[in-house]
Amino acid sequence: MDSLQALAMTESTSSSSARKRQREIRDAVLPCLGHAGTNAGHVDRTLQRLHQAGIVEKPPSKGSVRHRDYRIRKDWLQETTMTATLPLTDDREHQWPVVDVLKATEAMAEANPAYGKKLLEAVFRVGQETSIILYCDEATPGNPLASCVQRKAYLFYIGYKCMRPRPGSWITVAALPSNLLIDVIGGVAGATTVLLRALTPCWNGRTLLIAGQRIFCKLRLEAFSGDEAGLAACLAAKGASGRRPCWLCSNLISKLCRDQLLERGQANVLNKFVTIDEADKTKYSPATDTSIYAALDSLSACAAVETKGALEDLSKNLGWRHEPRGPLAQPELRSLLRPAATVFDVLQLDAM
Ligand SMILES: [Zn+2]
Repeated sequence: MDSLQALAMTESTSSSSARKRQREIRDAVLPCLGHAGTNAGHVDRTLQRLHQAGIVEKPPSKGSVRHRDYRIRKDWLQETTMTATLPLTDDREHQWPVVDVLKATEAMAEANPAYGKKLLEAVFRVGQETSIILYCDEATPGNPLASCVQRKAYLFYIGYKCMRPRPGSWITVAALPSNLLIDVIGGVAGATTVLLRALTPCWNGRTLLIAGQRIFCKLRLEAFSGDEAGLAACLAAKGASGRRPCWLCSNLISKLCRDQLLERGQANVLNKFVTIDEADKTKYSPATDTSIYAALDSLSACAAVETKGALEDLSKNLGWRHEPRGPLAQPELRSLLRPAATVFDVLQLDAM
């Protein structure tokens, strides 16, 4: 079939009239090519231009393009999605669609043979785990100049580490709209736990059919990336505005915290710490998974016996929130999600 198609293509491109037609088609759709990705609107605009150029006689109506797009999306979800149970307040539950990354990968490879070939060449290795990067981002669909906060959502993506991290190569795994989030027990951190557990079939591995080849694929979470605020929400960290602005630096404190220590005459403590205006990179000491887990364990021990005020104070000093539903509080997820392997904004670094 492939060789027949190739033959047909060489025959048609060899004639000059076919080349002329190709040019006409290209010129007609050129103004439509500036858009990243595809959606029903772009397809409709492209068909209309082809119609104006006399290439497509009877383009389908906008409604039928939208309907077909909806059907394709729905089929895709049905084929690749599992449901995870999000516990909500008032004993309610929400059946949360989470994309099975391995199933989605298989479906994408089937739809796009070049992608499947690339996966075999660069991503999946027989007998080895496949490293992926989980990415969390906040997005508000609609008009960026008049954004509607009710539509804001946390989005989770997964990308294969060995693929160039282009936005198009990421698989959207789950979306958490803010009107749902408001009722989720444990907030974004609680949902992150549910998500990581839902992906257990992918961490355990499965045999996939990629580009005609059967291969056993088992995913390994190599890094968790996102902007600082998004990651802090997912991991239940206090975030950049607190006393401890970064969980990846074990000796970093905020400037406000430094000033308070100076005011209290505790300048001697300061030689153990650096502040975020420190230009010498070598002075920052990196946190390890062990040191982070020790901090989190001391926080849960404190929560069991101390007052709310004492817990809050310790939480500020450690830079972590006490969140029993968060992913780092789950013993079985500790070997999967390593907090020291969080990376700030891999997608935006790539764009630079
Ligand atoms: Zn840091």
